[in-house]
Amino acid sequence: MSMRISMDKQAVQAENQRVAEENRSLFRQNKVTVINLMSSPGAGKTTLLEKTVEQLAGRYKVGVIEGDLATSRDADRIRALGATAVQINTNGGCHLDAHMIAKVLPDFSLSELDYLFIENVGNLVCPATYDLGQHHKVAVLSVPEGNDKIAKYPVMFRHVDLVVLNKVDLLPYLPFDLKQAEEDLQMVHPGAQWLPLSALTGEGFAAWLEWLEQRRQAAVAAQ
Ligand code: MG
Ligand code: ZN
Repeated sequence: MSMRISMDKQAVQAENQRVAEENRSLFRQNKVTVINLMSSPGAGKTTLLEKTVEQLAGRYKVGVIEGDLATSRDADRIRALGATAVQINTNGGCHLDAHMIAKVLPDFSLSELDYLFIENVGNLVCPATYDLGQHHKVAVLSVPEGNDKIAKYPVMFRHVDLVVLNKVDLLPYLPFDLKQAEEDLQMVHPGAQWLPLSALTGEGFAAWLEWLEQRRQAAVAAQ
């Protein structure tokens, strides 16, 4: 790799960081708790969000930004539940960046929102290194992917505050070593929080809602 390319990369990251800080101060001013959800394709981020929107409805106002390479299918699924959802199509781009988020924020009444969830593009590599201005990054791993993903994609798991293990209803049918996964997580990210659940059956979901409630209270208290 040439020096030129490496300098350009640094400039891109610096510019992303500048916009991420602008997003962050906007989130702070409007007292909205922002969660950036990342995973490989098919880990169940959208199903997790559907269930979350359903559970928070009536108590909290929720907005969702859906990042995908193409289509508005995920945003349509969230809108069907009555939440505000905006789709970002990256047209081949493999991650969301802070500019893309800044561009769609005017589509929300931020001051009325309690939570804003950002569903990143399905990819276990580069989304982890782009700050969007969120309060917390959450990685979603799922049982069918296998327990080796944490050790194979350490950068993702090192950059997140919480790892959700989704689809635990499939544990009896698939060779997923739960103990090994937890050990690998503590190896790449000592102290990382780990939350096994099934968005499909609701098992473990109360702990996820409790985590979100604690994060919201901390964010509001920090204003
Ligand atoms: Mg999705
Ligand atoms: Zn990327």
